[in-house]
Amino acid sequence: MVITSAATHPDEQDECLSSTFASRYVRQPIPRYKLPDNSVPKDAAYQLINDELMLDGLPRLNLASFVTTWMEPECEKLIMASLNKNYVDMDEYPVTTELQNRCVNIIANLFHAPLSEQETAVGVGTVGSSEAIMLAGLAFKRKWQTKRKAEGKPYDKPNIVTGANVQVCWEKFARYFEVELKEVKLSEDYYVMDPVKAVELVDENTICVAAILGSTMTGEFEDVKLLNELLTEKNKETGWGTEIHVDAASGGFIAPFLYPDLEWDFRLPLVKSINVSGHKYGLVYPGVGWVVWKTKEDLPDELIFHINYLGSDQPTFTLNFSKGSSQIIAQYYQFIRLGFEGYKNIMENCWANARTLRKGIEKIGRFNIISKDIGVPVLAFSLKDSSKHTVFEISDELRKYGWIVPAYTMPPDAEKIAILRVVVREDFNHGLAERLAADIDRVVKLLDTLPSLNTTNAAHVTPIPAEPNEKVKKSEKETQREVAVYWKRFVEGKKLGAC
Ligand SMILES: *Cc1c(COP(=O)(O)O)cnc(C)c1O
Repeated sequence: MVITSAATHPDEQDECLSSTFASRYVRQPIPRYKLPDNSVPKDAAYQLINDELMLDGLPRLNLASFVTTWMEPECEKLIMASLNKNYVDMDEYPVTTELQNRCVNIIANLFHAPLSEQETAVGVGTVGSSEAIMLAGLAFKRKWQTKRKAEGKPYDKPNIVTGANVQVCWEKFARYFEVELKEVKLSEDYYVMDPVKAVELVDENTICVAAILGSTMTGEFEDVKLLNELLTEKNKETGWGTEIHVDAASGGFIAPFLYPDLEWDFRLPLVKSINVSGHKYGLVYPGVGWVVWKTKEDLPDELIFHINYLGSDQPTFTLNFSKGSSQIIAQYYQFIRLGFEGYKNIMENCWANARTLRKGIEKIGRFNIISKDIGVPVLAFSLKDSSKHTVFEISDELRKYGWIVPAYTMPPDAEKIAILRVVVREDFNHGLAERLAADIDRVVKLLDTLPSLNTTNAAHVTPIPAEPNEKVKKSEKETQREVAVYWKRFVEGKKLGAC
């Protein structure tokens, strides 16, 4: 409709964007990859971009992501009003800095940091958990190096122990900061890090063990308490003093409200730092994460830069310099607007909707539920029988209804299991849960009427459409479907995934 001659297929190296609609303003097509020579009117620029963006998925139907897609209009007002505030200008915006400090303290207290009344917490706001994890990892690496140097031992081969289910940011940390990643393999019926195996991997070069509260794959919590116990025993035997970081990107704003008795945080002696994504169940739009350390001693001083303003000491420890203030302000809004009560209600509601969805999916009778009843409100499920059709086809078909539900294979050694995952967020309500279950039922029934795309019996393998083969004559419908699937995968570049 609106964009007429624009090439939407990435393969067509069309370098220009043109639009009959906006051609009222734009006589010349706008180059796609080069800075245009001339300006266009602001309404034309708006129209062109707005129209192109219509082809994006709807964020609220994007069930692949943990990241917040809805906030109250009052908070959006605060966000808009602070768009032009650079967070790093602490002298100029001391109130924003103060709000960040309050957030850090609120989170540290929520995670049971051992703080006296007068003491302030050690932590920082980041762009997300990824940056938070880089900082936490660096602190462990530096502490370990300092200790090794003092002992006169080699400090050039640091490693970190995690489960194979870690989010990609841990692999980034390992590669960017030259730390060997030692992954505990999963198994076909256990999809998180096994604390026993993790402790076995620990050696004198281990900077820390990273446990996940809310596995990205299934939402399951790892057993941090058991890890703490086993590691304490090992430390007694070896004297290595290995400590724990908890990646609570998604679970950090679930566990304190739903499972207050679950010990996973600073109540455990070996847990020294924790990260959490403000933009996941912290309920803020993308662009905010947090990392907190248990005590000042857990963050080596040489990593901190000090800024003095208004007579007080402002320590800073981040990877980036300039960034927006809006997300910090929005986080503070959520904390005071919702309070403990509000967060608890929202998380309970998410779980209630996850259970509705679970019931609907169980009723279909074709799926095994992989996710647990305790954890992040995520529903992960696999096909009982994928000899004819796979979860990847279900994911593709659901797109036609507008749903974005990712399908993926599990990490080693559970790659044989392919699952669909729905992240239940605050804005995914009861009605949508019922609707989604009904649509999944419809898709499964539709697939029953279609020929299998599987070229092998391996249930997990993404079907690769066969080359046109003259000997095997395919029905027209089959060929059409293969072309459609191939094209879709090509366009999407399999970019759906765990995030
Ligand atoms: C989302 C996620 C991350 C990365 O967090 P961002 O806030 O997106 O940078 C890290 N670890 C886990 C377990 C996650 O779920």
